[in-house]
Amino acid sequence: MFLKFAAAVCLIYLCVLTGNGKSAGMDKNGAMDYMAKFGYADPGRSGSGDFNKAIRRFQKYFHLKMTGRLDAETKTEMLKPRCGNADEVDDTGRSGAQAFRTGSKWSKTSLTYRFLRDSEDVTRSVMKATFRKAFAYWSAVTPLRFREVTSGRSDFTIMFARRSHGDGAPFDGRGRVLAHAYFPSNGRVHFDEDEGYSVNGGSINGQRGIDLLAVAVHEIGHAIGLHHSNVRGSIMWPSYNGYNANLRLHRDDINGAQSLYGRNTGGGGTGGGTGGSSCSDKNQSCPRWRRYCTSSRYGNYMRKNCQKTCNFCGGGSSCADKNVNCSSWRNRGFCRGRFAMYMKENCPKSCRHC
Ligand SMILES: [Zn+2]
Ligand SMILES: [Zn+2]
Repeated sequence: MFLKFAAAVCLIYLCVLTGNGKSAGMDKNGAMDYMAKFGYADPGRSGSGDFNKAIRRFQKYFHLKMTGRLDAETKTEMLKPRCGNADEVDDTGRSGAQAFRTGSKWSKTSLTYRFLRDSEDVTRSVMKATFRKAFAYWSAVTPLRFREVTSGRSDFTIMFARRSHGDGAPFDGRGRVLAHAYFPSNGRVHFDEDEGYSVNGGSINGQRGIDLLAVAVHEIGHAIGLHHSNVRGSIMWPSYNGYNANLRLHRDDINGAQSLYGRNTGGGGTGGGTGGSSCSDKNQSCPRWRRYCTSSRYGNYMRKNCQKTCNFCGGGSSCADKNVNCSSWRNRGFCRGRFAMYMKENCPKSCRHC
């Protein structure tokens, strides 16, 4: 049901994009679709009151004048290329500032990445060098260490792909969504191959390319557990800001990463963090109590005392979300109610079903 709905939204979305051409305006349907997709509107509620409320939410997040109308400034912001992950919109905060937000984290500091499908826009060596650089932004400020592997299992999998690419979150062709990435410990980091990526401000087919480094640093931010931030100038800001020769992490990005992993200890990657070996049961009866792992009554006890049996240890791959928007859907209450079945199957991690 939910899947069908999501697919319908995607279809409408594509029609709007292709029907109006690349730089044409953003109409009400397009805006509603944008807001449903990125966390500003409940897809089930599209009355005009809901629409205006969602627009205000969007305007607040992007620090625009809160008119509640789809005005020119709002349209321009919505037409910018951006990350496919939803924004974590806070309805309760009064101020406009929504600094860094974090989700789950890796339970180890030494992490591997692997390229599953290369970029068609840059050579393999340029691609690899760019990602090495991108990972280094985060290892400079945390104890995290990243290493490429070329075969076997890896913590992160990096892939350039067009349209549908097997994760239920199809890309949308050139423009709009540039990339998306999953939160720990999923590890998937995907780039829309229909974009023209370049490095060092280079152009591709006569047009300035999308800066691969900037997008990679942002997506890796998600892959280590950071959500979007509405601090302008931060790497975790949802929209793409163009090429910047002096790309740097903002203090807000550093605070976010360090709130998860602590500071860079200067060690070889084993210092800091919580380590990966602390996953064990504290009671020998745990395996017999397995059915209580998700119980509302005993869940907390089980989380604390039967980590191994219930698979509550981070880093394990058996509990992973299958859709990039799971955590945003969780925040909107979809783990319960009519989407519960879909969520159980596709968002077990966000809904804490494992
Ligand atoms: Zn993002
Ligand atoms: Zn994907």
